[in-house]
Amino acid sequence: MQAVVTGCAGFIGSHVTEQLLATGWSVLGIDCFSPTYDTSTRRSLIGGLSKHPEFEFIEGDVNDIDLLPHVADADVVFHLAARPGVRASWVDFSNVSRANILATQRVLDAVAVHPSTRLVFASSSSVYGRAAAYPTTESDPLAPISPYGVTKAACESLVGAYVSQMDIDVVSLRYFTVYGPRQRSDMAFTKWIRAALASNPVTVYGDGTAVRDFTFVDDIVDATIAVAAADLSGHEIFNVAGGSPTTVNEVLGLIERLVERPLILEHTPKALGDPDRTGGTTDRLRAATNWAPMWTVEDGLAEQVAWVKGTGRT
Ligand code: NAD
Repeated sequence: MQAVVTGCAGFIGSHVTEQLLATGWSVLGIDCFSPTYDTSTRRSLIGGLSKHPEFEFIEGDVNDIDLLPHVADADVVFHLAARPGVRASWVDFSNVSRANILATQRVLDAVAVHPSTRLVFASSSSVYGRAAAYPTTESDPLAPISPYGVTKAACESLVGAYVSQMDIDVVSLRYFTVYGPRQRSDMAFTKWIRAALASNPVTVYGDGTAVRDFTFVDDIVDATIAVAAADLSGHEIFNVAGGSPTTVNEVLGLIERLVERPLILEHTPKALGDPDRTGGTTDRLRAATNWAPMWTVEDGLAEQVAWVKGTGRT
């Protein structure tokens, strides 16, 4: 099987790429090393992956590259490239919408020419905003409260428009806050663990009572690859959630135990666009693929702490 993975150097994309290669796929990876967080680690990761005989890499922007020949050769396109992050989306909407909406439209255009290629699109729980109900189901209304969430909802609408007019199959996966080794350095767990290990203050937005359905990256990878082979057609949408909604304060307590030192907490006002709570049902994904989350937050956090310390998975 042949895959295209956009965003292959990123946190989730690199894990997906490695798992595809480990299970016999050939992968063409595309990434532009967008400067949203440190690029040197991502570059060295690609350097390592490039030694694999079934991996080919194109450095470039999905908005600029001629995607057609690559999509023509692929069974599945995993479109993970984006500018993620709620907070950044308030200040850089032009680049965020280019990386998220315009790039997705280009991928859809290429898939429309090669309809036998399945598209798996990385959406986000951010499309729900302050959800109407918890746990949230895929048919609950979309009401994003951040520009980032708006871009992901717009992408899903674009997918819907293309699928309604063209004979293509697309799976949109609404990932709920992803964590684990290689988590982006602008994301909370990585920042908190690094600060804790250096005995620096740990900055927390809000009072720590916010609840997130944190999802370990291996569970995200398994779900992403499972839908590639599932018997699905049209536009299918699935939540991918860890299944154990946890408060920020509970996570901080776990980190304190794992780093074996007291955290110095600094609370700042809640960030714009952050909902108080996320939590998703995954019954639909289980029914379609037999997928179920395997990782507890405690075990997943231990993996991430080991990665930050340099003693665990790279
Ligand atoms: P990431 O920033 O680590 O990875 C994204 C990669 O895409 C980066 O390496 C970046 O250089 C690349 N990229 C961005 N725009 C590009 C473009 N136009 N052309 C080529 N490459 C481009 O982010 P991540 O956390 O791994 O997220 C991956 C996907 O999952 C994104 O679509 C994100 O919106 C989605 N998502 C992530 C989370 C999470 O908690 N991390 C939650 C929900 C959804």
